[in-house]
Amino acid sequence: MKFLDEYRDPVAARRLLAEIRRAARRPWTLMEVCGGQTHSLLRHGIDVELAGVVDLIHGPGCPVCVSPLESIDFARELSLREGVLLASFGDMLRVPGSRGSLLEARAVGGRVKPVYSPMDAVDLARRNPDLQVVFFAVGFETTTPTTALAVRQAKALGLRNFSLLVAHVRVLPAMEALVESADCRVQGFLAAGHVCAVTGCKEYAPFVERYRLPVVVTGFEPVDLLQGILQCVRLLESGRPEVVNCYRRTARDAGNPTAQRLVGEVFEVCDRPWRGLGMIPRGGLKLRPEFQQFDAEVRFCGATVPAIEDHECHSGAVLAGRIKPKACPSFGTSCTPDRPLGAPMVSSEGACAAYYRYAGANHLSG
Ligand code: SF4
Repeated sequence: MKFLDEYRDPVAARRLLAEIRRAARRPWTLMEVCGGQTHSLLRHGIDVELAGVVDLIHGPGCPVCVSPLESIDFARELSLREGVLLASFGDMLRVPGSRGSLLEARAVGGRVKPVYSPMDAVDLARRNPDLQVVFFAVGFETTTPTTALAVRQAKALGLRNFSLLVAHVRVLPAMEALVESADCRVQGFLAAGHVCAVTGCKEYAPFVERYRLPVVVTGFEPVDLLQGILQCVRLLESGRPEVVNCYRRTARDAGNPTAQRLVGEVFEVCDRPWRGLGMIPRGGLKLRPEFQQFDAEVRFCGATVPAIEDHECHSGAVLAGRIKPKACPSFGTSCTPDRPLGAPMVSSEGACAAYYRYAGANHLSG
């Protein structure tokens, strides 16, 4: 634990807070892209500590939250079909679709099985040859390699009863969509270190060049995040839009070429709808034609019934960073973690859940 303790050291964190306050000669607005970072910022009260100095806007980096309603509805419908077993990460089970959640489907006889990894779903298919096992493949670039590995394994085993409902998304096109929206206030980005560990930090260079906004790659511990914020503020103060990697213990310029090759072998880039952001060009992945036999939408015919958005839930505006969770009239009243109206209140990386859980946290002061 010594290694991690270094990045949780309250003395180092307070020193960095003071440096940020000194460095910022005017208020700046930064977006942390990843929901894991949002939770860490709120858990440690960093947003409160930096009020008036740095406004932290929370980005759409929760893969469960950005999965479109249509995909959740289709997953639910599949789970209710005869002879189908729907395998999913646990986070997805309580997310409300327009016709209920997967958990609710299970309560009325749907076959829904939580799994820890796509390989668990392959194993389920191997052990249950009479069932069609569909894995709900949700996630950013961090989880795509393991899904690709599962597909390759299913192919090697000759499994005809395994398929994917693909909802994998790509972070960088979503950042481009955010910056190009008319009401974008973001002046600099904190990029997610674990995504860059796969894709590589250099992927951001054309983005920085084009939009003239700094991107600082950072981690998830309070000291990581504060170092990233300080670096971003310094870049903004000196008018230098650059990519800076503050997470060198994990992320490299070139990323992980083995993982990139694996993903490229199984998936190809496609346009994909993001909840809250709409259709994002090149915003997702789909199976390559040579792996189409593993595509659940082809095997079972995709959803045709339009999804119904809940107008009480403002998750679209939260995910696009247009409002913060507390600005949603349902926050903490008709929407709570026990009775969520939207995915951001359910997911372990959702911004609404972070605000609910860590309201008033201020652990770094003392
Ligand atoms: S608080 Fe609940 S209703 Fe409001 S945006 Fe978040 S998830 Fe949706």
